[in-house]
Amino acid sequence: MTSPVSPLRAAVNVDVDGLYLYDRIHGLTGRSGNANDFDAAHHDPRAWTKGVPRFLELFARADLRATFFVVAQDLAHAEVRAVLADVVRAGHEIGSHSSTHPYDLSRLSAQDQKNELGRARAVLQQASGQAITGFRAPGYVLSSQLLETIAEVGHSYDSSRFPCPPYQLAKAAVIGLSRLTGRPSGSVPEPPGVWFGPRTPYFEQLPSGRGLIELPIGVVPWLRWPIIGTSAIAAGEVGRLLLAPALQRSDWVNFELHAIDLIDYVGDDMPARFIKQPDQRVALRNKWPVLLKTLEALAASHQVATLGHWAGRLGHG
Ligand SMILES: [Zn+2]
Repeated sequence: MTSPVSPLRAAVNVDVDGLYLYDRIHGLTGRSGNANDFDAAHHDPRAWTKGVPRFLELFARADLRATFFVVAQDLAHAEVRAVLADVVRAGHEIGSHSSTHPYDLSRLSAQDQKNELGRARAVLQQASGQAITGFRAPGYVLSSQLLETIAEVGHSYDSSRFPCPPYQLAKAAVIGLSRLTGRPSGSVPEPPGVWFGPRTPYFEQLPSGRGLIELPIGVVPWLRWPIIGTSAIAAGEVGRLLLAPALQRSDWVNFELHAIDLIDYVGDDMPARFIKQPDQRVALRNKWPVLLKTLEALAASHQVATLGHWAGRLGHG
């Protein structure tokens, strides 16, 4: 299916965010990643045990290799380690999504950031047998210090920039609203400079002299409409058809998904509070074909490879 001659680049990736993180972002539990209320070995593993295996099946059907961004503390769970082994066996890339997924990572001290990222990278390398070169920040939020830390602990690329005004505007509104209701959200807003930043991969020279490759999350050229699982699922089959011509011509597609995208609210017996999540309002039997058709179309028009592959290509010329 993959077109080896296509000059159009695409990558597909999954943030494996545990269910506990959705409670944290909605202000239901402590906001710090060092939350003492988290029991890593006994968290609800459904993002891993229900969501991830379906992604493996989806990617096998679309015949592509993806990147899974993993929160290292989840590996304390035996069932999670078993699924991770399946991911590695299927030839996918593992990237770091930090140790504990603190939404305020960008605001932590340099030393705390280093502990978070250094530990995650060591744990993930040990568990996967892969060199971990990629990082995605919790909530996509970076800072100049965090970029330095990402490079310092040994990553060669970051994939957290999301130059998407519609998303950033909605996020700022949600954060503002949650402040008004006295239930502070765990997430941090991004300055508007990021909203209109580069849309395609680039090399960033950091003040320390270190360099980092940035692989921004996908937006449609000009419109800057998000090309991510959440929006694709919400838009459904009609949205997919409307977006298809723009997607087909886009010179860089970084299609970001979440493990929860392939969880079925009814069939997987999800806790009632998850109905707030847009992807949980659509049944698995309806969202699966939308994602499969999107990926099959992408594989027909683009060269689909892991983020690590594209970072390597950019790093060598
Ligand atoms: Zn996340």
